[in-house]
Amino acid sequence: MSVQLTFCGGVRTVTGSMHLLEANGERVIIDCGLFQGHREDFYRVNAQFPFNPGKLEAAVLSHSHIDHCGNLPNLTRSGFGGKIFVTRPTRDICQLMLLDSARIQEEDIKFVNKINVRKGLSSRPPLYNIEDAQKSLKKIRAVDYHKKFKLASGINCTFYDAGHILGSAIVYLEVIKNESGQSIKIAYAVDLGRQHMPFLQDPETLNDVDYLLLESTYGGRTHGPLEAAKLKLAEVVNRTMARGGKVIIPSFALERTQEVVYYLGELLKEKKIKPLPIFVDSPLACKITDVFLKHSESFDREAKSLLKSGTDILRQNTIHYIRDSEESKKLNFDKRPMLIISSSGMCESGRILHHLRNNIGNPRNTILVVGYMAKNTLGRRIVEKQRRVRIFGESFELKAEVEVINAFSAHADKNELADYVLSSKGKLKKIFIVHGDMDQSEALAFNLRSKGFRAYIPRKFETVTLG
Ligand SMILES: [Zn+2]
Repeated sequence: MSVQLTFCGGVRTVTGSMHLLEANGERVIIDCGLFQGHREDFYRVNAQFPFNPGKLEAAVLSHSHIDHCGNLPNLTRSGFGGKIFVTRPTRDICQLMLLDSARIQEEDIKFVNKINVRKGLSSRPPLYNIEDAQKSLKKIRAVDYHKKFKLASGINCTFYDAGHILGSAIVYLEVIKNESGQSIKIAYAVDLGRQHMPFLQDPETLNDVDYLLLESTYGGRTHGPLEAAKLKLAEVVNRTMARGGKVIIPSFALERTQEVVYYLGELLKEKKIKPLPIFVDSPLACKITDVFLKHSESFDREAKSLLKSGTDILRQNTIHYIRDSEESKKLNFDKRPMLIISSSGMCESGRILHHLRNNIGNPRNTILVVGYMAKNTLGRRIVEKQRRVRIFGESFELKAEVEVINAFSAHADKNELADYVLSSKGKLKKIFIVHGDMDQSEALAFNLRSKGFRAYIPRKFETVTLG
């Protein structure tokens, strides 16, 4: 019986994770992420699948980041009739993320079509709509961590904690390869988190793995320690408060927002910052925070014991969650020193744009960047401290202080990735390095080879036979 793995997306790049496993006449996919790039590439890459979705038995997801789950509505629209297996927190976060993504697709295509009509071109449909997202959500089945389940005939699956975001899983697959019941064991650690992250369990190590698919976002780079990042956050807050300014934090609604709130809560408790009004201004972040609190069973020991002792780690007194847009607008006229966390994370859309427009020109304020800013985004232009930036088509002078804290990353770095591989005691046959820009994948492959492992960087659409 042959077992084949095809790398359909998320290789030699960081978005669009998707891999096809074929064994025993069955076909399943691991992740179904959106490729994120320029608009034309986005439609070209995401619209078509390199297999017939109608012939798939099932799909399994590692986590709810959109570059790992965001093309599921299109998969469903393209004829996929199977089930989608996820962990319980991932199910609830996917509900929010996929509907939000569908709304963005619908809005984006309206904008594109307006331009197309002006140019005399025909209009086109969105990649998917809200109805497609709802249909795909109906296919989701949640399974507990550590509970083995049948993904397809002859393919069993178990979720282990990946420690990357709430609900993230290392997908462990056991593929029966012959009649005597011998199996090939594949572990998919994409994405892989770090130790000592707020809320999250540390990534679990697996000992019985033949083939490991490993992410390499930071395959050649290291992060600073989390504790130092937390202290830098305190310094930025104190410095800005002392001059009577506002701290504006553009942040992803999922995980990073909750982490920053968690650290602010700790800093308040440790009296490293003085009480100040803190606003989380993002309807999506508010809803995701509710999901976090619903799934406190998945938290690490520290967060659980804080909750048990009565510390409401995400809803302390000075933290206000804003869902209503009128409430959001009121912040524009509130002159008190304060801290505002808002999305989108790369400053390309959403309420953060209003806060930047209102605060970017005042040297008393600070724009604090806590996440990755891709090229050609407003966020990147701010990180580069360009003298003038455009917001809503208008030019603004960037006078506010700009600070960057990179160490909050939820991805294992160069050393953490190598340590993870070294800690798995089994007899790894091969490591497939995926989910990284080429320089980062190469750096990780080089590092792992120097430690005696067989590491390989597959090409997009390459098929390998596992035995
Ligand atoms: Zn991720």
